[in-house]
Amino acid sequence: MSTSTENETGVAVAVGAAAGTAAGVEVADCVHCGEPTEYPATTRGVTLCPVCEWQEAQRTACSG
Ligand SMILES: [Zn+2]
Repeated sequence: MSTSTENETGVAVAVGAAAGTAAGVEVADCVHCGEPTEYPATTRGVTLCPVCEWQEAQRTACSG
């Protein structure tokens, strides 16, 4: 049996899987850097990519 399912969408699938989104679902862009987030495009409000989200968390932790 061949399992050659390797393609460029593999990355998107892996990212989407982390957020519980199905493959092919459009994700929202990060409001800071424009990188794809792990949130679906239907998410309301501010969406941050994992990197910016981490940075925000650090900032919150420090200023809190
Ligand atoms: Zn970002």
